[in-house]
Amino acid sequence: MTLDWSSLDAELAMWTEQGLTLPVWWRDDDAVAPTAALGRLTALSDQTGLNVHLAIIPSGATPALVAAVRANPTLIPVVHGWAHRNHAPLGEKKAEFGAHRPTAAALEDARAGLERLTSLFGDSLRQMFVPPWNRIAPEVVIGLPALGYTAMSTFTPRKAAMAAPGLACINTHLDPIDWKGSRSLVAPDRLIAQIAGQLADRREGRADNAEPYGLLTHHLAHDDAIWEFMAALVTRLMAGPVRPWIAATKKDLTL
Ligand SMILES: [Zn+2]
Repeated sequence: MTLDWSSLDAELAMWTEQGLTLPVWWRDDDAVAPTAALGRLTALSDQTGLNVHLAIIPSGATPALVAAVRANPTLIPVVHGWAHRNHAPLGEKKAEFGAHRPTAAALEDARAGLERLTSLFGDSLRQMFVPPWNRIAPEVVIGLPALGYTAMSTFTPRKAAMAAPGLACINTHLDPIDWKGSRSLVAPDRLIAQIAGQLADRREGRADNAEPYGLLTHHLAHDDAIWEFMAALVTRLMAGPVRPWIAATKKDLTL
């Protein structure tokens, strides 16, 4: 696969020239157990030096996953809803934490998710809530800090630095999977143009460059084309004017 990275290279060169730094982070969703795909993700993270925030589905998380995360500090556990169960009516976009159910029931699931993953992962767990399908009702967002969450993450550039008082918003910006079509890699020239455009928006002040730029992957759904694209992209970014971002631990936040 020979790709034309020239638009991104030109953009990154401008960042370097202007002395700018791009904060970058990586989120990968839907882990419950170690698999060959998780092994490949871990190896890529290790090779490139960019940590992966692993959004783990609490209800199904296995002891073997706990061991894999413990053995590979490049993986950083965060909370991916509760059971990845769709509560939206047929014909509506899927959501576990949408407005289709009582807020109290959704918050009870969010509480249970944090509790179970805290018991499994201890201090390595970050108190970040990642709603499945990146959808969450505003009433649920408001209730997250009282449960102990300090950050939330969905998809698309954030509208404000805080999603609610006490709850930082750290979204993701690039998803390489063509979910509605091939379920393989989005046309790479489109992805490269998207990143270059999003970086230009930040450089020219149209987007918030304090928000870490988020790569969103789903290791269980990757084919070779997606793995190869991600390897090339992360390697390229890490060689450029980039500062890797890692979510703070509870300890960091209370110091
Ligand atoms: Zn998910």
